[in-house]
Formats: sequence, C-alpha cells, structure tokens
Amino acid sequence: MYNLSHNINSAYPVLFDLHTHSISSGHGTTDTVSALIQSACKKGLFLLGISDHGPATKGSALPSYFRGLKYAKKNRFGIEILYGAELNIIDMEGRVDLEDNVLQGLDYAFISIHPPIFTPYEHNDLTSVYVKAMNHPKVRFLGHIDDDRFPVDFEALLLHAKAKGIYPEINNGSLMPNAYRVGGQKNCRSILKICKNIQLPILLSSDSHGSKNIGNMEYIYPLLEEQNFPKDLVLNCHLQSLKKITDYKK
Ligand SMILES: [Zn+2]
Ligand SMILES: [Zn+2]
Repeated sequence: MYNLSHNINSAYPVLFDLHTHSISSGHGTTDTVSALIQSACKKGLFLLGISDHGPATKGSALPSYFRGLKYAKKNRFGIEILYGAELNIIDMEGRVDLEDNVLQGLDYAFISIHPPIFTPYEHNDLTSVYVKAMNHPKVRFLGHIDDDRFPVDFEALLLHAKAKGIYPEINNGSLMPNAYRVGGQKNCRSILKICKNIQLPILLSSDSHGSKNIGNMEYIYPLLEEQNFPKDLVLNCHLQSLKKITDYKK
C-alpha cells in the first residue's frame, strides 16, 4: 500500500483524491467502494471521490449503479465521500455514456477518451470532441488529456475549459514508468506550463484501480517542482476548492 506521508510532507499536500475506481469499473478491479474508503481513511485523506468508469467500458457498472449513488452516504468510516463517474466520450458529437438525468444525481464527472471506444492514432485533433462533451451536466474535469494516441490542442482546450469552469487533471498513472498511455511526461509538462500561464487550477489524480494507489501522486511531484507550479493552482491542496468544483456544501 502506498504510504501517504510522502504527500503530506510534500510542498503540495494532497487532501483529497477524486479519481479512483472500485469493482464497479470492471476490468479486474476487485476492491469495493467500502474498501476504497477504508484505505483513503488509513492514508489520512480528508475526502475521497469514487469515479467508476461509465457503462461503455467493458465490464463496468450499468446506469442503475450511477443512478443509485445519490442515495449513498456522504460520510463513512470518518471521512467525507463524493460520488462521481469517469465518463467515456463515445462519439465525435461529444456524447457520453450516461444520460444527463443520471449525471444530475452525481457530485462530479470526468470526461475521458479510452480505447477501443476511440481508435488510437485515428484522429489528428480531438479538441472539438472534448469541447462538445463539456456541455453535459456535472462535467468538472478533463480526464488524462495527456495521451499522444488521442491528440488535442492543449492551449485551445484549456482556454475553453477555463471559460467553462472545468479543470484538467494531471494523472499519476500517465506518468508511471509502465504507463500504457503515450507521451505522458512531455504532455503533462505542456499542460502545466499553459495552466500556470493562464492561471487555470489543476487536479492531481491517482487514477487508482482498487485501493492500492489511492492518494499516490509520486510521479507528479517532480514535474510540479520542475515547473515551479504554484500551490494555489493545485485544487487538492485546498479543501475549499471543492466548493468550486462540486456541489459539496461545507
Ligand atoms: Zn481513464
Ligand atoms: Zn480512471
């Protein structure tokens, strides 16, 4: 299990992780939502967000799972919980894999492009697809836009995100030595430079599948330090930033 003391001692202490996956995301993850929460609790997070894959991911939950989340307890094992989704963008019109009326019941959503729903290297520029997908309710974050297989115009996309009150994530999974996404280091550097320049806050994400990597941002820190990235622009360092990005009430 990843030891969170590294996070707490960092110049960028991570108070919450909003990109995590439970058994409801399919593809072999076996930890339940309860196991994820207990792990986040042990690691000292103040809040955990569960963001299971939308129904277009093979083996993931049906819409009824997401529809039920609005009734789930918001405080368990002593920490606060938010319930979201990592939506799949499913076509060039920016449609996503949950209906807007289901999205309304969630706290937040990521929009992401995944294979095989989109074919790697098939498109030169998917910026307009993200722009259209940003119009769905509860979309707050751009999921791992750092992948050369699904290219976007970072500057144009991030400026539009800023206007919409939507934030890019920097995804620890994209930066791991064995990452399956392509160009993570180079692309995250570009994203950080632009965000610093246009003063757009970023979200640090573990993208933990199961409890193992919850809160683990170890490959992000060197990039933040290298770019001298302002702590004020890191959403996870400030609990009050949750009010901006979700319907979190406190
Ligand atoms: Zn993803
Ligand atoms: Zn994910």
